[in-house]
Amino acid sequence: MSILIKDVRAILTAPAGIDLVVVKVETTEPELYGLGCATFTQRALAVKTAVDEYLRPFLIGKDPSRIEDIFQSSMVNAYWRNGPVLNNAISGVDMALWDIKGKVAKMPLYDLLGGKCREAASIYRHADGRDPSEVAEKVLRFKEEGLQYVRCQMGGYGGKTKMRRKPQGALPGAYFDADAYEQSVPVLFSYLRDKLGYEIELLHDVHERLSPVRAVALAKNLEPYRLFFLEDALAPEQIEWFRMIRAQCATPIAMGELFNNPNEWKMLITEQLIDFIRVHISQIGGITPARKLAAFCETYGVRTAWHGPGDVSPVGHAANIHLDLAAPNFGIQEWAGLNEPLREVFPGCPEMKDGYVYLNEKPGLGIDMDEQAAAKYPCAHKVPEWTVTRLPDGTLVRP
Ligand code: MG
Repeated sequence: MSILIKDVRAILTAPAGIDLVVVKVETTEPELYGLGCATFTQRALAVKTAVDEYLRPFLIGKDPSRIEDIFQSSMVNAYWRNGPVLNNAISGVDMALWDIKGKVAKMPLYDLLGGKCREAASIYRHADGRDPSEVAEKVLRFKEEGLQYVRCQMGGYGGKTKMRRKPQGALPGAYFDADAYEQSVPVLFSYLRDKLGYEIELLHDVHERLSPVRAVALAKNLEPYRLFFLEDALAPEQIEWFRMIRAQCATPIAMGELFNNPNEWKMLITEQLIDFIRVHISQIGGITPARKLAAFCETYGVRTAWHGPGDVSPVGHAANIHLDLAAPNFGIQEWAGLNEPLREVFPGCPEMKDGYVYLNEKPGLGIDMDEQAAAKYPCAHKVPEWTVTRLPDGTLVRP
C-alpha cells in the first residue's frame, strides 16, 4: 500500500530564547515522518495557524513523495502567494517532505541532490564590538577557534557612537545615525587590515541602513580592504542602484535575505550585479525553490550564502548545510552557533569544527526533534525593539 500523509502540524519552541517554528509531517507508515523549518520568528503564531488550519486539511491523504506537485499546489492554494507567512508555512512542509524522501531512499538529502561537492561547509561567525580594537580582539578569538571568515560590525548594526541631536518629544525606538555609521565602517576595516593582515576573510552587513547613494560611496570606500562580501547594501525596494555600485567598484556584493519570491533575484543574477545570494530559505518556501535558485545562479557565476541566523531552527540549519554540500556554486554559510538547549531539543544537529560545519550521515535531513524537551522552552511572542528603528530626527526607517 502506498504511503500517505496522515498529519501535519506546527510545533513552537524557543530553546535559545528565540521563537522557532518547526513543521512535522507524519505518514501512514509507522515511525516515518519528516521535519521542516517554518520559522518566521516575529509572526510565529500566524505561521502556526497557516500550517494547522489551512495546509493540514489540504495535505492529509496526499502522497508525500510528490514534493514538486505539493509545493506548486500549496503555493496557489491560497491564490495570493509569496508572502512571508505562507512561504514559511510551505517551507515547513517542503523540508519535511524532502526529509521523508531521504528516509525512504535511505540517503542523506545531499545525496538526493546529486552528492557531496565538499566534505563540509565553510562558515562565518559574527564579531561585534564597541570600537575597532574590540572587534579585532573578537576576530582574533574566532581565528584561534579555526574560523577563516568573520563578519565584522560595530555596535550592533552601527551608527550609535556619534548621534545628531533628537528633537524634543522624539518617539521611542532604536535610534541610529546613518552618516556616523557610514563614516565609521572604512575606519573599522582600515584598522582591522592593519592589525590582522589579509589572510582572514572579512565580511560586513549594511542591513539596508543607508540612502542609496551613500551605499554606493561605502562600497567604493571599502574596496581597498578586500571584503569577502558586503551584504544588503541596499533595501529590496532600491535594487536598481546595484548597477551603480557595480559600475564603480569591485567590492563583492551579497543580497536578498528579505526577498520572498525567488524572482526578486532574477535581474540581479542575470545582469551579474551581485556575487552571492543571501536567502532565508524558509522565507522563499523551502528546499524546492532554493535548489532551483542555486542552479540558476551557477550559470551566471553567482554563489550561495544562505542566511543562517539564530531565528533559523536547527532543522533549517541542517537544510542549509545539505544544500551547501551539494551545490557546485556554494560560497559561504552563516553560522549562528547552537547552545545546549537547542542540541537537547534537536538531536543530530550539524557540528562545527575548525571553521567548517559537518553533517551526520543519517538519511533525510539527519535531524530529529524531542517534543517533550521542546515543550520545556515556550515561546514568548515578543517582537524585538530593533524592528522600530529611527533616524536622529525621529523618522522611522527600515531596521
Ligand atoms: Mg543580513
